[in-house]
Amino acid sequence: VAGVDFMAETASILNQEKHVLLPNPESCCPMAAFLDTKKVKDYKRENPGLPVVTYVNSTAAVKAESDVCCTSSNSINIVKKISKEFGTKAVLFGPDSNLADYTEQFSGIKCIKMPEEGHCYVHSQITLDDYNSAKEAHPEGIVLVHPECKRNVRDASDFVGSTAQMYNRVKSSNSEEIEFIIGTEMGLLERMAEDFPEKKFYPIREKLICYNMKKHTLELIKYVLENLDDKTYEVKVPQAIANRALKPIEKMLELS
Ligand code: SF4
Repeated sequence: VAGVDFMAETASILNQEKHVLLPNPESCCPMAAFLDTKKVKDYKRENPGLPVVTYVNSTAAVKAESDVCCTSSNSINIVKKISKEFGTKAVLFGPDSNLADYTEQFSGIKCIKMPEEGHCYVHSQITLDDYNSAKEAHPEGIVLVHPECKRNVRDASDFVGSTAQMYNRVKSSNSEEIEFIIGTEMGLLERMAEDFPEKKFYPIREKLICYNMKKHTLELIKYVLENLDDKTYEVKVPQAIANRALKPIEKMLELS
């Protein structure tokens, strides 16, 4: 898995009999690191009866403490359905506080942030000034941002969605929609620039790079492929945790 640790853990949870390799074991997601099992248990104790909803960008151990997982595409739908099932008007939601805020805004269900300060440093650095500067430079640009951005940036933008939803928004754009201002990690902009050469893409601000995702190199990938028995690079979620973490993922699929 040439991504961050929670992606490799999720691959391990879903494929417990397979070997999952992370070419650079230091490739960790700082946002997932905002939430650990102790914090989840504390929130549960303080808010008995509320369902625990965790973003897939979370550790396996945190997933194991959860009732359901969600993605940035389906969080609104999942929160509506799980709160109905539990008969509550609120859920515990972590670890991204901006996704929690976005989900609460459009589901009408209170999303108690676990923790209040959880955020993705790539998306939360985007400011309204960035939005205004980008619009000034490219007034025709349609602004697409990720739900992990802050509310004032989301509210100003033309479209809020996951990276897949942003990609599809561009794919389905009409011939008069030429320019797009992109508010997410640079990788998506680069991919869309390749896939849609007839369109123009501008980052909403410079250096929107997740350095944690970029820690893998071709040399490291080549090494792990040639040394499959080197356990240093294997990510194996202990079976007891994997079995518990699988349930909220399956619950998400059931509710989707
Ligand atoms: S962009 Fe990087 S820090 Fe942000 S959620 Fe993804 S992996 Fe984590």
